[in-house]
Amino acid sequence: MSYVLVLMAPAPGDDVAALVEAARATLTGAGEVRWLAPGKAAEIPLPDAPAERLATWHEQMAELIDEQSVDYAILPAENRRKRLLIADMDSTIIGQECLDEVAGAVGIKPQVAAITERAMRGELNFEDALRERIGLLLGLPEASLADVLETRITLNPGARELVGTMRANGAVTILVSGGFTFFTGDVAGRAGFDTHRGNVLLFDDGKLTGVAEPILGREAKRETLLQQARAHNIPLDDVLAVGDGANDLAMLELAGLGVAYHAKPVVAAQADTSIRHCDLTALLYLQGYAQDAFTTG
Ligand SMILES: [Mg+2]
Repeated sequence: MSYVLVLMAPAPGDDVAALVEAARATLTGAGEVRWLAPGKAAEIPLPDAPAERLATWHEQMAELIDEQSVDYAILPAENRRKRLLIADMDSTIIGQECLDEVAGAVGIKPQVAAITERAMRGELNFEDALRERIGLLLGLPEASLADVLETRITLNPGARELVGTMRANGAVTILVSGGFTFFTGDVAGRAGFDTHRGNVLLFDDGKLTGVAEPILGREAKRETLLQQARAHNIPLDDVLAVGDGANDLAMLELAGLGVAYHAKPVVAAQADTSIRHCDLTALLYLQGYAQDAFTTG
């Protein structure tokens, strides 16, 4: 099996060109450079290699990149374009954690955000942490959630390009969130996803009373991936999953390409590929799409 090295920076600059040249000179058997975005993203074919050489390439790339704001991946050269995208919402497709923003609207963001952070780092059970945070928000008027959605929730850069380009090339796109359908429906529409899954908030007389059980957590995300892959007859190798939190790990592990996106350390350490600096269009470069093929649908 041959490989491809993908190098990407958040913005065009000399450092990428220099790194591309250094990588070609350093990695045994590196081929011709193909620029995916001028001065910003490039790929270089690499030959078939045993596991030890693959490990050496990774060590060499880590050394070359050092402290520079450049992401890289070494991927199998075959089968790069994925047919199913399954994406986490909070801190992945959007720049916020919904519950933290809701809490901010009623002045208790620090208490709620502290629990969110620990849950996303894998230090708390996801389901228990969700119930605890909802418990702090009981009685909240439904109208204030709508206000949060409208004023505080923003798509991360590259979200519309990622979803639009994959859809234009025939992929099925799913937004799956431990957050709430109240938000996933709107965010899925803004980013262009085919479908969305999330937890359901319960209201009585316009006031928050709880969250529907069973809670959609880590295993439910994995199950959603399996169900959707089966429903669309797509092999797991053709699935791209992306997320940032501990509750995304099971689906990242299962997908042919699992990407940790600006992720918690525990997640970045376990994923196939980690994007630390670039925006979501990095996931298109990983699949070999050039910038001039991007579309927002
Ligand atoms: Mg998240």
